[in-house]
This record gives sequence, C-alpha cells and structure tokens, in this order.
Amino acid sequence: MHTPLCRHARGTPSEYAARAVAAGLTEIGFSDHSPMRRDDFDDWRMYFHQLGQYVADVEQARRDHPHLTIRLALEVDYLPGQESWIRELAALHPWDYFIGSVHYVSDSWDIDNPYKLSEWKKRDPFAVWSVYFERLTQAAESGLFEIIGHADLPKKFGIYPREDCTGLFTRFLDAVARAGVAIELNTAGLRKDCREIYPSPQIVRLAHDRGVPITLGSDAHAPEEVALNFAEALALARSAGYDRTCRFTRRVREMVPL
Ligand code: ZN
Ligand code: FE
Repeated sequence: MHTPLCRHARGTPSEYAARAVAAGLTEIGFSDHSPMRRDDFDDWRMYFHQLGQYVADVEQARRDHPHLTIRLALEVDYLPGQESWIRELAALHPWDYFIGSVHYVSDSWDIDNPYKLSEWKKRDPFAVWSVYFERLTQAAESGLFEIIGHADLPKKFGIYPREDCTGLFTRFLDAVARAGVAIELNTAGLRKDCREIYPSPQIVRLAHDRGVPITLGSDAHAPEEVALNFAEALALARSAGYDRTCRFTRRVREMVPL
C-alpha cells in the first residue's frame, strides 16, 4: 500500500489501517515508492529527505491501531545499475520487506505511466515485454528483494504481444524459484484496462508448479482500495493450487495458511 508521499496516492497510513481493520485484516504492509538516488528522476515517488517522514507516518499508524500488525516496507524500482543504491536504502530503516518492481524498460520510459501511453504505439509489444521480463528476472536474481511486484505489469493498458510469452514467464519464474523470492498477487490490475489481477492465471499456475510463494496485495493508493478484490485474489491463488501465503518480519519469510 502507498501513502501521499509518492504524489499519486491519498489518505494517511492510519486511515488505510482503519480500513484494513474494518475489512477484517490482521496484518498489512506499507510499501510506498522508494526514492531514487536522484530526486528529479521522475515525479511519482517520495523524495529522499521524506524517507524518515514515511517511517514516522507508518509508526503513527501502528500506534493508532495497536491490534493490527503493520509492516514497514518499500516498493523499490529495479533498474540495472541501481543495486548499490538499493543496498544503501536497505540499511537505513528496519524494513520488513522490499518489493522489487520493474516499471522502467529504459531510463526514460516507465511503461505503466498513462502520460506515456503513446510510447506503446512506437514499440513492438513483444520487444517491450521481453526487456521487461529480462529486467524482472535480474531483479529476482539480485538478492535485493523479498517479493517481486505486479509481475506482468506490461499488460496494464491491455496491449499484448501476438507472440507466445510463455518462455519469458518460465525463465523469470525459474530465477524466482532459485532465488527463493515470492511474487505478489496484486488486485490493482482489475482496476486497469487489462481488467485482470497481476499476474495472469497462467503465470500464477507456472509459479505454483515451481513452488514459488505468493503474497496478496491491493496496491492501494487510497484507503477505500485496501483489500479491494481480495476474494478474487484468493480464488485465483486456490485455483492455481496454493494453500499458503507468506509474511515477512525484518526481511525473514514465514509461511502462513491462506
Ligand atoms: Zn503507485
Ligand atoms: Fe508498482
């Protein structure tokens, strides 16, 4: 879940937590968009100097909702070459997990950015998906993340390659399984043009075949999105054979019944 510090979400962490309690959740995690080394990299993440405020806001939510377990995390952009920066971030606060996400297939194109939708028209979808999954595979292999975020994000606007992408998925998931990381079932996809949870049922089945653990996320950018469509995420997980999810405490994984 996100916070207003990323400049495209609203509601305080405490308001998200209140919504989680009302929805019957016992544990949630904040994973707002991490700062880049350069604050002018883009305009949809917190500034580096706000990182302490972010942690304080999450700690305030913990004090306001003492019976709810609230994890402190980040959604961290993976770009090749950023590894040392991500390690520096990791050392700054007692994080429970890092979600590794790929949004950028180059230094200048974040493929999910609605203001850059026209870029898709200039590209071959399969080439974009290939670069995206290559980077996602590197993210899984990097050892920097506990969870890989929204694994098939390129489908966001409903633009799919004509080619069969199974090879991209299996190469990625084999790396995920070797690295011992989890993937998230992210319901935000249902709120986008693709109208489908990230990742697709095919990818969730392939992940289950390889023993890859899952987490559930709503990717909430507003309090009313907390736990949105979790029934669908549970159904997807179960249909792929999952009976467990996992949680992270100070970057250590523990399996829990679904
Ligand atoms: Zn966001
Ligand atoms: Fe993301």
